Amino acid sequence: MSKREFQTEVSQLLQLIIHSLYSHPEIFLRELISNSSDALDKLRHLTLTDDAYKSLPFDPRIDLELDEEHKTLTISDTGIGMNEEDLVANLGTIARSGTKNFLSQLSGDAKKDSNLIGQFGVGFYSAFMVSDRVEVVSRKAGEEKAWRWVSDGKSGFELEPAERTVAGTTVLLHFNEEGKDYANSWRLQEIVKKYSNHIAFPIFLTYDKSEWNEAEKKSIKTRTTEQVNAASALWRRPKSELTDEDYKELYKSVSGDWEDPLFWFHTKAEGSLEYTTLFFVPAKAPLDLYQTEYKVGVKLYVKRVFILDDSKELLPQYLRFIRGIIDSEDLPLNVSREILQQNRILTSIRTASVKKILSELKNIAEKQPEQYLKFITEYNRPLKEGLYGDFANRETLLDLVRFKSTKVEGITSLADVKSRMKEGQKSIYYITGGAESLLRTSPLLEIYKKKDLEVLILDDDIDEIVFSGIDKYGEIDLKAVSKASTSEDLKDEAEPDKAEALKPLLDKLKATLGDQVKDVRASVRLADSPSCIVSDEEEPSMKMQQMMRAMGQKDIPAPKPTLEINPDHEIVKKLLARPDDAMATDAAWLLLDQALLMEGVPLQDPATFVQRLNRVLNVSI
Ligand code: ADP
Repeated sequence: MSKREFQTEVSQLLQLIIHSLYSHPEIFLRELISNSSDALDKLRHLTLTDDAYKSLPFDPRIDLELDEEHKTLTISDTGIGMNEEDLVANLGTIARSGTKNFLSQLSGDAKKDSNLIGQFGVGFYSAFMVSDRVEVVSRKAGEEKAWRWVSDGKSGFELEPAERTVAGTTVLLHFNEEGKDYANSWRLQEIVKKYSNHIAFPIFLTYDKSEWNEAEKKSIKTRTTEQVNAASALWRRPKSELTDEDYKELYKSVSGDWEDPLFWFHTKAEGSLEYTTLFFVPAKAPLDLYQTEYKVGVKLYVKRVFILDDSKELLPQYLRFIRGIIDSEDLPLNVSREILQQNRILTSIRTASVKKILSELKNIAEKQPEQYLKFITEYNRPLKEGLYGDFANRETLLDLVRFKSTKVEGITSLADVKSRMKEGQKSIYYITGGAESLLRTSPLLEIYKKKDLEVLILDDDIDEIVFSGIDKYGEIDLKAVSKASTSEDLKDEAEPDKAEALKPLLDKLKATLGDQVKDVRASVRLADSPSCIVSDEEEPSMKMQQMMRAMGQKDIPAPKPTLEINPDHEIVKKLLARPDDAMATDAAWLLLDQALLMEGVPLQDPATFVQRLNRVLNVSI
């Protein structure tokens, strides 16, 4: 027998699991059954697709055996099994990168944390919440040797050769004080029904059943084996036969989530392609939503046979929060990951599924605004990613995303903005490039306020990239307020052209600021501020250029702002009348620097800025 230490992270994790999650210890059974079901799925897949496994017996089942007297429970499966190496790797170390995250995310709130267990796949260790000793005997399919892994969940584990007649895994739990309550057949049946009813394989419970014996006038215990789950692929049943409870239960078993889903969309397609999809939207965005190594939430089945659950091809990346099932009649069972990437059938299913999900969401937005608000609060941002990547569905996505605005509290849709447009208004306007407070006080908004035009506040860091590529909502132009060309909506017919009068000052400013600016112009967009920065229509904005440089695109030329000057502002008027002296030079630079600051662009030379400011202050105080 060899004794091994746990990897440090495992010990840490075990401590956390045991100490922070004991208010819902019953999930240990869900986790172990789901491991068994995965192991059966894997073996089934191999026997169907791999010649080396074709001749192996496959009699899929999961057996729970309860020994009430000794307070033990075994969970056995006839799945893929593990050899010595697998046992060490799977039950002694933590291979997943997500687990470090798991450790950092634990909140101490037992309900939330038990949810995390499923999401991060640390399920097996939950056995130690209810056991003071766990033994695993496993034999890998296609191999002769079996191994026993034993641990008290504290220091480490022991490993020794063992016997097992068929391939598969048996987990033996010696219940601890906390776990004793589970040495009860009613309790176990109840838990299996709650979490594992739709596991595709039969789950049997063997226990001592008490039955009243009329002849002997007492109840007698007989060892009995009964199937305790429905074992049906619930998604294949007609919608009319399914209750909300069925859906919620299935969701919890496929997602590992503790809460009910927000919505589900169940579709059976018949025709040139036959498939069933059942998609769920979790009430809370998955914690790994913004990690590159996010866990895929959709499982692929072919004719009810599980194929895989880790293909990022099943749905576009921006819908990675969706959980559920795609079950196809037409794909071959031996479809491989590589084939999936360009498989025509899957492409069609995927295209139709995306359309379905988006149109259902649109429907909810129209008919159940309160529910939709819950949805969009969690998922506005991934939908915006879709605007960037999913060209075919852009129109629908534009209707689904929501925005902050200068005209409403909370959030608003483009359709609502459209309905609020003023008589004769040509475009919808938005501002990007910084935090909400910075955007709301931007000088660029002054003219819109004056003219009572609505402006959308796009303060999400991806807004800049996403919306710079979208110039229409239906027939209406979408315009950034920072772009130089002024829209017809801003032109004031009655105003004489002030640029002409301002020309001497503009020339002076150009001469002073030299190559720090691209151009200096008279502005029609300013009311209260003396100056602002704009960028050309075809150019990335200042903020975007900053972002591109931060992302490593070093070779883009240094941004050159175009400075706009407010002809009606007191400072500008005074400057126009003023002789060309040192004070005028300071003022010119201060007009540029304050405009850059309002754009959220850091000054290149703050020291000189402060010196100028002080010189000007000195004169005016
Ligand atoms: P997860 O199941 O999320 O990967 P677990 O900690 O529950 O995390 O299990 C770790 C690994 O141990 C699994 O990925 C699997 O490879 C292996 N394993 C666990 N239980 C079984 C089992 N009954 N049969 C075969 N392999 C198993």
